[in-house]
Amino acid sequence: MTATNHMLAGAVVAVALHQPILVLPVAFMSHFVLDAIPHFGIKEDHPAERNRHPLFRYIIVIDIAMAVCLMVLLPAILKGVVSRWVLMLGMFFAFAPDLVWIRGFISEMRTKTDFKRYGWFANMHQRIQWFEKPWGLVTEVVWFGAMATLLGFLAA
Ligand SMILES: [Zn+2]
Repeated sequence: MTATNHMLAGAVVAVALHQPILVLPVAFMSHFVLDAIPHFGIKEDHPAERNRHPLFRYIIVIDIAMAVCLMVLLPAILKGVVSRWVLMLGMFFAFAPDLVWIRGFISEMRTKTDFKRYGWFANMHQRIQWFEKPWGLVTEVVWFGAMATLLGFLAA
């Protein structure tokens, strides 16, 4: 799923559980649960090709902008509801497994060829994401709305 949705789930975990010792592992595991739900993605035969797909690029730019907004706004909105550090750690750990793609993505953008040196963790992570299609954007939007609503209830 998008970084925005992973981080929003991490925020829900942080607000629901509060305790860092619970928030960190649950936020981390939430990543794989979300990735197992059919979600947005573009499948091309070669990842390097996918990275140049206009819709993929458009969504990545929006996703990064929204994720940055969440990191700036949520600590302010949830002030007094959850510790700022627990919130930031929950959001970070919920997104963290996707850090594994960054090296390959940069290499693919530079060399225009597929990055093939992923380890077992990335391979497992990739297999969990069994369904990635453009219309999975619907899931992303619905998930965002549901989690934002849940966060509102938890924080009230
Ligand atoms: Zn992922």
